[in-house]
Amino acid sequence: MLLNINKRHMSLIFLTIAILFLLAGLLVLLNHFSVFNRLGARPDTNRVRIPILMYHHFADEGAPGTTISAEAFEGQIKALHDSGYTAVSFDELYDFVCNGAALPEHSLIITIDDGYGSVYDTAYPILKKYDMKATVFIIGVSHGKTVYKDTSYPIIPRFDDAEALEMVKSGVISIQSHSYDMHQYEPYETGSYRVGVMQMEGESDDEYIKAFTEDYQQAAHQIQEISDNYPFVYSYPFGKYNELCENLLKDMGVKVTLTIVEGINTVVRDSPDCLYGLKRYNVPGDMTPEKLLDKISHQ
Ligand SMILES: [Zn+2]
Repeated sequence: MLLNINKRHMSLIFLTIAILFLLAGLLVLLNHFSVFNRLGARPDTNRVRIPILMYHHFADEGAPGTTISAEAFEGQIKALHDSGYTAVSFDELYDFVCNGAALPEHSLIITIDDGYGSVYDTAYPILKKYDMKATVFIIGVSHGKTVYKDTSYPIIPRFDDAEALEMVKSGVISIQSHSYDMHQYEPYETGSYRVGVMQMEGESDDEYIKAFTEDYQQAAHQIQEISDNYPFVYSYPFGKYNELCENLLKDMGVKVTLTIVEGINTVVRDSPDCLYGLKRYNVPGDMTPEKLLDKISHQ
């Protein structure tokens, strides 16, 4: 009798141990195949997928790839807002990567290149209405102007100091750099001119380093004066860049650089290098809200 009870107890103990081993094995397997991650129960909060949109000019008429009407822009911003997207600033992105801060679910970033007056007149009120932030990249030499540098060639007018400050103070807009004068183009330039920030033919490395460094510093000081914020994000004119200027910008305290390569970005906590050479989606004026949502959610 005593022997029988002991035997039964022993069997129960073995059975319990076997079940525990089986459960442990199952947990290891589930974790291995990331079942929890796929179910969303334990998302990887250290990696975030972040689409960055790129706009330029807001008007009814203009170059189709870089101009969007107020109506079409509002349609896109409303659709993003209604679909649960939050447009965050680069400060928030940087704080996620480097300072342990959280980012809202479905974050994206809206960028606007060149600093046209239509940002103030058209885009800013719409962004404010839907509580979506944006970052504007100004070309220093053209800021506040209606003509190209010291010529009489008319250009699309740029917003001025007072408008810039109002937008920045609202918290909706951040102003960052698109170079001071490394955004040159024909037909305004005569003779040989620099293509974006690229080194010119016959320019020595030392000359190039000096030119690029001085250009950035001039741009950064101007932005500090206009917006009371020292910039830390750089949008490469025409998306052209090289390793040397990336390193120079890093040395000057730039934390984020932007290209015009299309695609999604994944940023990783405690990996500050992931913030260099970020990709962007250009949003043309004829892109429907549905197509935009599809583009940023499936790639
Ligand atoms: Zn540009």
